[in-house]
Amino acid sequence: MTDRNFVTVNPCVMCQPMGSVLAFKGVENSIVLMHGSQGCSTYMRLHLAHHFREPVDIASSSLSERGAVYGGSENLKKGLYNVIDRYHPSVIGVATTCMAETIGDDVPSIIKEFKEENGIGDDISKDIQIIPVSTPSYSDSHVNGYIKALDAIVRHLTRDAGESIPNGKVNIIPTENLSPADIRELKAE
Ligand code: SF4
Repeated sequence: MTDRNFVTVNPCVMCQPMGSVLAFKGVENSIVLMHGSQGCSTYMRLHLAHHFREPVDIASSSLSERGAVYGGSENLKKGLYNVIDRYHPSVIGVATTCMAETIGDDVPSIIKEFKEENGIGDDISKDIQIIPVSTPSYSDSHVNGYIKALDAIVRHLTRDAGESIPNGKVNIIPTENLSPADIRELKAE
């Protein structure tokens, strides 16, 4: 009998929205709501809890077969309402899962409707910030999920900042593929 060779070393790292969770975890009083089935958020909670050795909160819009056929708008709005009611966050990241992307839900429009229905404004200093991130796992990995979430956060929070004025400085936001030694090297350049 010959030994079997497995070419997949760690398939867990391929979940794109899981990367977005890591980016939002760096924002004070934020929570991520996965727009998708319960299984996705359960898997991510479990995987991240194993890695960090502590519980990681990830909410879910709990899409089921009904949502997959008729669209997940109702589920996402209920999920947002419950997350605000129970966690009182300042920032909610809404990351899409494979299913939400496959059925083609227009998440930014659903969030806009939800905000209008619940009287949530756009004032960064006093209103809850709801930031959508499109993260279909079948097109990219968790690294891209992290980068996309970071990009969405920065764009959202600086949207009223006006014209950018160069200050001669570079802000380096490393992903997991850079080590402290790499950062030292970059600073030395
Ligand atoms: S179905 Fe997609 S989003 Fe859900 S856990 Fe799997 S890879 Fe991640």
